[in-house]
Amino acid sequence: MSKGMGSRGGGFEGARIDRARLWESLETMARIGPGVAGGCNRQALTDEDRAGRDLFVGWARECGCDIQIDEVGNIFARRPGSDPDAAPVLAGSHLDTQGSGGRFDGVYGVLAGLEVVRTLRDLGITTRRAIEIAVWTNEEGCRFAPAMLGSGVVAGVYTRDFAYASTDKSGRRFGDELARIGYRGTLPAAPRPYAGMFEVHIEQGPILEHEGITIGVVTGIQGAYWFDVTLTGQSCHAGPTPMQMRRDPWRAAIEIIGGVFALVAQNGPLARCTFGDMKAEPGARNTVPGLLRFPIDLRHPDPQVLAAMVASMHALIARACQQHGITPTVEQVWHMPATRFDAALVDIVDAAAAHLGYSRRHMVSGAGHDSLHTAQFAPTAMIFVPCAGGLSHNEAEDATPEDLAAGANVLLHALLQSANT
Ligand SMILES: [Zn+2]
Repeated sequence: MSKGMGSRGGGFEGARIDRARLWESLETMARIGPGVAGGCNRQALTDEDRAGRDLFVGWARECGCDIQIDEVGNIFARRPGSDPDAAPVLAGSHLDTQGSGGRFDGVYGVLAGLEVVRTLRDLGITTRRAIEIAVWTNEEGCRFAPAMLGSGVVAGVYTRDFAYASTDKSGRRFGDELARIGYRGTLPAAPRPYAGMFEVHIEQGPILEHEGITIGVVTGIQGAYWFDVTLTGQSCHAGPTPMQMRRDPWRAAIEIIGGVFALVAQNGPLARCTFGDMKAEPGARNTVPGLLRFPIDLRHPDPQVLAAMVASMHALIARACQQHGITPTVEQVWHMPATRFDAALVDIVDAAAAHLGYSRRHMVSGAGHDSLHTAQFAPTAMIFVPCAGGLSHNEAEDATPEDLAAGANVLLHALLQSANT
């Protein structure tokens, strides 16, 4: 009889992770670099980050993993498979936190991967492909900019030396701090062949909790653009100057802002715009401002729709400014490309959630993740679980042991499926 390793058969249907052990590991990790309000402060390449990494490495070795560390400190804990020539599958996320971060953001993805490996050991299951757990360096970007740096170097978005040269507020260099904590490895920070990568993460938004759904089958990450807009008119006295003789940048600004909100409404529920700031110069209540400065944050999961939104925004700004005698400058300061995850892996996640009987829905991630980078060199998908109030990047971040176990079980079955084909 065939062992049926390629199907969800093979005797693995009943496999489940240990909910209490996963929760306890999360609690133990959260005690390293505790925050001031019940969360965590374990920023990248600090002594706390080192202690968290050491704890993980010890745990991974205990359950039969070999450890490799690359030049930018990414950790790969590898549980060998039966076929040493087959490309491994990977579960990864990050252990660093914001300065006032939560106990689950990133950490959950790493420790759920560890819990899967512990479960496989307990059940005596050897997969055909090796399973690797990745800890990506400096995902948060709060100490060293930019965010998602470790996975970005592997993906070729940034060079290793660019990462090394990044400095924190006190002038300490990433490269030096990495060496100081003992995690400057020798493995080249470059893509290696992988059959698939899965990142399980708290949603960091309110949708799953609001809809009472356990598993988010994540189909991609929305793209984003940041623009800095400056509208130049002419400042003058608020009293004597007749309205029709003013070059008031607010006239253009209200059309632009209203127009962008309308544009987003036309592009459906997945489009987003945010005007997070507004500065008037010289900034006096009885002076028509000569200058208005404000950012525009535009997002959509479909790259073509997003590109069309950006083009419409530019046209809108040009039209409004021309009409009111205003000179605009629009500077693009950041772009996060929209990412579509691998359709076959998304199906594997969906099937695993269905097999386990969890409620689920397809969704797009509103936040960036290391998976955005790994999707550039390996088939990638993500699994979301609800978090309380949709809150994240906040010490009050919370999730239930049940939901966390559900996500880890989906990860287990997704890994069993992809590591045995
Ligand atoms: Zn994260």
